[in-house]
Amino acid sequence: MFTSLDDRSVIVTGGSKGIGKGIARVFSRAGANVLLAARDESALRAAADELAAGAPGRVETVAADVSRVEDCRLIAETAVERFGGIDVLCANAGIFPDRPLADLTEADVDAVLGCNVKGTMFAVQACLEALEASGHGRVILTSSITGPLTGYPGWSHYGASKAAQLGFLRTAAIELAPRRITINAVLPGNIATEGLDEMGEEYIRGMEAVIPQHRLGTVEDIGYAALFFATDQASYITGQTMVVDGGQVLPESPAALEGI
Ligand code: NAP
Repeated sequence: MFTSLDDRSVIVTGGSKGIGKGIARVFSRAGANVLLAARDESALRAAADELAAGAPGRVETVAADVSRVEDCRLIAETAVERFGGIDVLCANAGIFPDRPLADLTEADVDAVLGCNVKGTMFAVQACLEALEASGHGRVILTSSITGPLTGYPGWSHYGASKAAQLGFLRTAAIELAPRRITINAVLPGNIATEGLDEMGEEYIRGMEAVIPQHRLGTVEDIGYAALFFATDQASYITGQTMVVDGGQVLPESPAALEGI
């Protein structure tokens, strides 16, 4: 039904762990060649070995920090060198350290905005030429429900960064349309990842209780949403968002979930 993604060149930033690794797994199982970018080389290698074992596509890695503009260029250059171009950029790398507003420092804000906002913008910018050359360039951002739709104590800087990604998305979509590049965002709810594990059992049980499907999402749930945006059949969709959250943002009050 969907055109094959065989041999498409796909970059996944933050591809060594969590949601990024899930996105990379879905694309590589679909036949794409995937470049994983993150800072920790050993985690990158482990992820690449794991993914390459079950997939037809090639899986390569590049150590890079997306909060550095020159590293964003390195990611794009590496994809072009290894795979001959770039068809899809999944700008997924993100950090979510929690810190109450009253204790927030300038360094906290710089770190979160540097990775989540600046890192997104310059990763996209670095890939533009190659995405345009592909004739069907696709950018998929990993935003969040936190910020654009919901809030959570300790995440004012994180929520601001995830909402900022969507402000960027809407203007970028207009600028990129003449280049035949689409840009869309997936807004995950609470997804079972190493990062979320660090929030602790109590946080996870509390979240499961308020999600209508009563489970956390899987990283592949996000991967399949990203895959859809990357298909040829999604070519007329740009500047849009897809919430993937098991219905978490829907209840008007806890009463809506009574007996469910
Ligand atoms: P994770 O498990 O902590 O993984 C984060 C990934 O990003 C790792 O590969 C990490 O590798 C990489 N990374 C972090 N900082 C980086 C930097 N400066 N440059 C390059 N790579 C960097 O996190 P996750 O839960 O999968 O989150 C991934 C994305 O999903 C984030 O944008 C997050 O905001 C979003 N999200 C997550 C959830 C959730 O429930 N988990 C919900 C909503 C949205 P290194 O540390 O080695 O660089």
